[in-house]
Amino acid sequence: MRASKNRAKRGSMHISGAETICTEQQLKQIAQQYIKRALSHSRGNPDEVVITVERITKKPLDIPLLNTRTAKCSSPDKARQLITEFLLGAGVSARAVNAGLKVLYSKKHMRGACIMLSVSGRRAEPDRMRGVRVSRFGMTDSAEKIMTAIPGIKKSNIRTVTEAITLASKTAHHADILAEVCISDDPDYTTGYAASKQSGYLRIPCIKQHGDMRGGRVIFVRQDADITAVVDYLEKRPVIVSAKKVRR
Ligand code: AMP
Repeated sequence: MRASKNRAKRGSMHISGAETICTEQQLKQIAQQYIKRALSHSRGNPDEVVITVERITKKPLDIPLLNTRTAKCSSPDKARQLITEFLLGAGVSARAVNAGLKVLYSKKHMRGACIMLSVSGRRAEPDRMRGVRVSRFGMTDSAEKIMTAIPGIKKSNIRTVTEAITLASKTAHHADILAEVCISDDPDYTTGYAASKQSGYLRIPCIKQHGDMRGGRVIFVRQDADITAVVDYLEKRPVIVSAKKVRR
């Protein structure tokens, strides 16, 4: 689902988006949920809602759910420090960390993620305005049950967190991806995350101030990564995230 607002002078503004893998029987119910979501987002009322449905012919890859922890964090400054430590620990250079933080806290808004080279900090996504949209991912019922048992997550946020962890689990699974950081563009949702295959999914409360419309996502890849293959995996490879353990 993609919802946007058409602004006379500055082109279209992204309001919200969502994706999943489901059975044909679930289709109607999920499309209804997505339309409802598009029409009640805190970023505003959309002028256009696009629902795309595609049959998946390739068997989805079965990948593990990342382990989840919540950091102690009470301000965006502390969040920057936590993100920096996480990324340095994942093998991202200080230069690329700084370049990534600039994109994450920038006023420019993308629909997708920035792909950043982990040594030089160079941006490598084919379209800088749009970014790369991670798609074709879903979660098994048993993994979803684990999500409801994670301590410290408000019931009203379970769906948001579940979708984010599914996306992060897909992203972290690729051998050329070292880490990912996300700040939601929802002004009411101030918990972001940093994730990697090695360290799992770290929820970071107070990553931004309440009411801030800015948000972003940066995926750090190995300096010599095959970008075309990474983008193809993120956008096109169907994956199902299940409750098995991550093999490091
Ligand atoms: P959200 O967590 O949905 O509030 O999105 C936060 C930011 O992540 C957005 O501003 C986009 O830049 C980016 N984003 C959202 N959805 C995706 C996606 N499916 N794939 C890649 N980037 C995304």
